[in-house]
Amino acid sequence: MELKFCPCCARPLTRRLLGGRERLACPEPACGWVFWDNPAPVVAALVERGDHVILVNNKQWPPNWWGLVTGFLEHGEDPEEAVVREVAEELGLEAELVGLIGVYGFPQQNQVIMAYHLRLPEGEIALNEELTGYKAIPVERLKAWDSATGRAVADWLARRRAGAAPNQG
Ligand SMILES: [Zn+2]
Repeated sequence: MELKFCPCCARPLTRRLLGGRERLACPEPACGWVFWDNPAPVVAALVERGDHVILVNNKQWPPNWWGLVTGFLEHGEDPEEAVVREVAEELGLEAELVGLIGVYGFPQQNQVIMAYHLRLPEGEIALNEELTGYKAIPVERLKAWDSATGRAVADWLARRRAGAAPNQG
């Protein structure tokens, strides 16, 4: 769905070249609103427990697609708070933040993914309604996939194999 009207003054938006790209913008000079379409920040959690990594299936994903716990930042939240909150909401346990894996562009979804490594304590996993299930994959069988979160998994695995990970505390 494309925006048609200015959210500030309700005039029909027009296309204008700004900052080297064509953008939807308000033609009213006194308003000047521009739809920049900036990517949304998303946090992703590589959740480790023992020698396993927890992958989840979200209801909005294909049934056989397993990935990291992810979620949007909320207003006023630090990414580190957001990723701990997301894991608590989706898996029902308070995880320990180990460190940042990396930051990855995800242009297909117009997102920027901030991927963190967390450790899940013992205890029963209680999935929330966003998820259909989870899998505990032994780390030695974990394979990265071809997307922004997959690149985070690849980086995490590579650092782990190199044995020089600054956030394997
Ligand atoms: Zn306007």
